[in-house]
Amino acid sequence: MTIGLAGAGIACAVIARELAEHGHRVEVHEQRSHAGGNCHTERDAASGVMLHRYGPHIFHTDDDDVWAYVNRFATFHAYVHRVKAVVRGRVYGLPINLHTINQFAGAAMSPAQARRWVQERCSAAGSGPARNFEEQALRTVGRDLYEAFFHGYTRKQWGMDPALLPAGVMARLPLRFSYDDNYFAHRHQGLPQDGYTAMVERMLDHPLIRVLLRSRLDARDARHFDHVFSSAPIDDWFGRCFGMLPYRTLDFERIDALGDFQGCAVLNQCDEGVPFTRTTEHAHFAPWERHDASVCFRESSRCATEADIPFYPVHLSEGNALLARYQALALQQDGVSFVGRLGTFRYLDMDVTIRHALDAARQFLSRGSALDVQRAAA
Ligand code: UDP
Repeated sequence: MTIGLAGAGIACAVIARELAEHGHRVEVHEQRSHAGGNCHTERDAASGVMLHRYGPHIFHTDDDDVWAYVNRFATFHAYVHRVKAVVRGRVYGLPINLHTINQFAGAAMSPAQARRWVQERCSAAGSGPARNFEEQALRTVGRDLYEAFFHGYTRKQWGMDPALLPAGVMARLPLRFSYDDNYFAHRHQGLPQDGYTAMVERMLDHPLIRVLLRSRLDARDARHFDHVFSSAPIDDWFGRCFGMLPYRTLDFERIDALGDFQGCAVLNQCDEGVPFTRTTEHAHFAPWERHDASVCFRESSRCATEADIPFYPVHLSEGNALLARYQALALQQDGVSFVGRLGTFRYLDMDVTIRHALDAARQFLSRGSALDVQRAAA
């Protein structure tokens, strides 16, 4: 019995490993020349800096099983992600915390005073569950902070008015009335010493796993396998028969520098007039290493065409009829399960992707069929 996997990103690598450890022969087909999917890292030849080729990935989770799982395949260094943001020529800390609020208001408020300050600014925003990103922002941080930190950045990142986006995108970011400026609120946070690609390659390093790079497994090949797990974009799997789903892709403009270029890992540009969203300085993602030279990338986002790498599935607050049609097709497709951020068209973080992959593999192993897995996930 051979199981086919379309993609060698983190989702398929976890499934491949789980199935191989339970005696299944697995064949992984990856279109690109490397494993790791969009988490791919590689050491820059010129500077020696470990680069996150498709944008920064910080591992963070509250899931003890997932944390234990990734630690089997990589040595993680403790890392606390801190993000700075430029707004109207001034630098602030993100996520919005007591320091951000005090800097923004030019004040020295206590936590209780800052909470009241924010509440006063939210009072006009209405109550009840937010229907979209803008409502969520106005209800949690109020108009002044929303317009400064979220409105312009979100329009640049998603190419549309924040009122059209789901509230969940805004809910990713915490709001704190303390000086804690850790970007994430999870108990475990870290970065793998040798990068994510090395971690994924170790997952795939098993006698029952065969990895084929520069190789595409698509719907026509599925019949050659006893089951297929696909992390390919769900519309791509079906030959985009209803048209292309909306994704955002990223353009990266490389900047080489000597020494410390910007003093932090991620510097967001929240003003709409600045034509990019953020600059990432990759040496800061490995603070345990020393480098003389630095490599940064200016990121800008645009609508993906069929020729681009999709990074973010775009969800609209009012739903997506096209996605519903592909999901209906996926349910009818026997013998194929859709996994990962692009396979399920969900804005998943790495830890959630691994959780879902572990669950999918274990359900497959316990039921002998992943059809139920895909039905359960739909
Ligand atoms: N966001 C924003 N301003 C910022 C940072 C984030 O408006 O300075 C919004 C934006 O819409 C973004 C969302 O919050 O897409 C989620 O941010 P996160 O940092 O989680 O995005 P990612 O790192 O996944 O691109």
